[in-house]
Amino acid sequence: MAKYTDADCRLCRREGCKLFLKGDRCTSSKCALERRPTVPGQHGAQNARKKQSEYGLQLREKQKIKRYYGLLEKQFRNTYETAERMKGNAGENLLMLLERRLDNVVYRMGIASSRALSRQIVNHGHITVNDRVVNIPSYVVKAGDIISIKESHRDNAIFKDLSKLKITTPKWMEFDVKTLVGKINANPQRDDIDMNFAEHLVIELYSK
Ligand code: SF4
Repeated sequence: MAKYTDADCRLCRREGCKLFLKGDRCTSSKCALERRPTVPGQHGAQNARKKQSEYGLQLREKQKIKRYYGLLEKQFRNTYETAERMKGNAGENLLMLLERRLDNVVYRMGIASSRALSRQIVNHGHITVNDRVVNIPSYVVKAGDIISIKESHRDNAIFKDLSKLKITTPKWMEFDVKTLVGKINANPQRDDIDMNFAEHLVIELYSK
């Protein structure tokens, strides 16, 4: 019988790492990358053995980060341009801006099992920031912001059993599954991102 794979899982196999796009499945033995850790396609394994060019490495790293956060090329490029205009290291700025997106925060707080679902939750107006509904997934949160599920939406079935989600909330934020209220304790630092990203490669790619 053919093994289960789908478009999202193919992205992980292409990038050679878990991008956590499928909720609970990603931490289970059903993860397609664990079952079949090869590059997809007829000549995948063969291509994976080829030495990558400098451009190829930069491109793959950009795709990996972009896909992890679930952005389209234009959205990702715009975020890079904002990061470049900021003070400090452009690569770190890029990752920090991505981490502070409201859709990422909703996922990292454990309100949704994947970033795709958290984007939908934000789009549908379920989330408030400082008591005001924010339905823009790219909204950038800041230290001190209070994130919660809109009071009149709390009975929605998608918010039942949040405590069962296996998501570790990073220390720069907190979320109480009983009150359904969370807080951004501090802006994230580079060390708070547990993925092995080489963000400087993205900067090199876009600086050409
Ligand atoms: Fe699929 Fe998730 Fe595993 Fe990626 S990490 S291959 S999305 S199950």
